[in-house]
Amino acid sequence: MKVVVLGSGTSQGIPVIACNCAVCRSTDYRDQRLRVSVYIEVDNLCLVIDTGPDFRTQMLRECIKRVDAVLYTHAHKDHTAGMDDLRTFNFRQNQDIPIYARKEVIEQLKQEFAYIFVDKENKYPGVLSVEPHLIDNQPFNIKQTTIIPIQVFHHKLPVFGFRIKDFAYITDVNYIPETEFEKLQGLKYLILGALQHKSHLSHYTIAEAIEVAQRIKAEKTFFTHLSHHAGLHAELERTFPPNIYLAYDGLTLKA
Ligand SMILES: [Zn+2]
Ligand SMILES: [Zn+2]
Ligand SMILES: [Zn+2]
Repeated sequence: MKVVVLGSGTSQGIPVIACNCAVCRSTDYRDQRLRVSVYIEVDNLCLVIDTGPDFRTQMLRECIKRVDAVLYTHAHKDHTAGMDDLRTFNFRQNQDIPIYARKEVIEQLKQEFAYIFVDKENKYPGVLSVEPHLIDNQPFNIKQTTIIPIQVFHHKLPVFGFRIKDFAYITDVNYIPETEFEKLQGLKYLILGALQHKSHLSHYTIAEAIEVAQRIKAEKTFFTHLSHHAGLHAELERTFPPNIYLAYDGLTLKA
């Protein structure tokens, strides 16, 4: 199994447009963060979690040649805006691209990308074709691979994290129900959302995320969805307890 962090930045990305702060001006490549997403190779399946506005750039940067399915965490635009660029994989693979999401997310995608969800006879030639799969908080399989949804909350919005084997990905979260912690035992790698130091309505702060990571006790935890307010990668990571790190774009984990 291989996991590649495609993006590790919060909704505006880093650098933020027109910002002149030390993080946005940093020349450390780890301080340049596209919108969050991961690519996963497991059991001969190529999966992507979320297709944010940087999806095309991320596919090009990592030379990704195949996408067998997309898993959506939630319908915020920083996680969905790049969906249209999946159509390259329609052409390459000669198939509709399966997308897995809760019902409300599929409904929102249907509104925001209405031209994609029209019936075949009325569809403009070359427009993306997807195959929606509704999921709820129950394990499901894509071919031979079992995906375990983790139900978390992003203020009041339900968001899915996903566990695949001993890797879990949870972003856009500020509350994990007790029942869900049980699904997160024995992880080798956890990627967890953490925004900044200052408290926030819908995201864990760095300190809150450290507490959660220390409770889950994955062998290694990496924080993602970072704001430029979190500080410089090198300086911030130095303050972390053992086995907790910052994700960065291009980080590759092998399990
Ligand atoms: Zn987000
Ligand atoms: Zn900045
Ligand atoms: Zn969000």
